[in-house]
Amino acid sequence: MQLKKFPWPENKRCALSLTFDDSLISQINNGFPLFEKHNVKVTFYISPNHLKQRHVNWKEVMQNGHEIGNHTMTHPCTINFPFSRNNALENYTLEQIEEDINNANKFILKTLGISPNSFAYPCGQKFIGRGPNTKSYVPIIAKKFLTGRGFLDESPNDPWLCDFSQLLGMECDGKSFEELKTLLVSCFSQDEVVSHSRIFFVSIRL
Ligand SMILES: [Zn+2]
Repeated sequence: MQLKKFPWPENKRCALSLTFDDSLISQINNGFPLFEKHNVKVTFYISPNHLKQRHVNWKEVMQNGHEIGNHTMTHPCTINFPFSRNNALENYTLEQIEEDINNANKFILKTLGISPNSFAYPCGQKFIGRGPNTKSYVPIIAKKFLTGRGFLDESPNDPWLCDFSQLLGMECDGKSFEELKTLLVSCFSQDEVVSHSRIFFVSIRL
């Protein structure tokens, strides 16, 4: 498939989106001052339970131009994770996951005064139910948000071809700067081959 070059501003060849999940206090204490120092804007996918502890500071983060996204109200993941055993995606219905997402949106609207445009799938998992009754909840995200980000994926996203409701997200937790640089350069290399550009989502735990 031959596509024309993606029109990034200022002749840039790709975009890097830095995203941070779960509203960890360390993101405020360590990350926020660092981003301000270097004038870098990032996305924080918040978890209301953590947000409640420090919502004044999160307001400041938002007012300084960082994006606030939805990460559900109760963070359901697979039953295989001990922390999610009593709140497992295998036991959810589509109606229940939608209600959980709506509750997070309501909470963000009430505490920060905004309606998020972006969503990050908790644990990068996009299903509810099990076996023959398994269903994807990607269509719910597509209906409510401009973007849905996954996790632990293996590729950047092609802006011409990707599904913005299930964007790939690559893990950067624990990686050194050199390792991150290598990852970015590998995305540029792919760009040379296909002759169009990439959006590169990474997810980092601070
Ligand atoms: Zn999370």
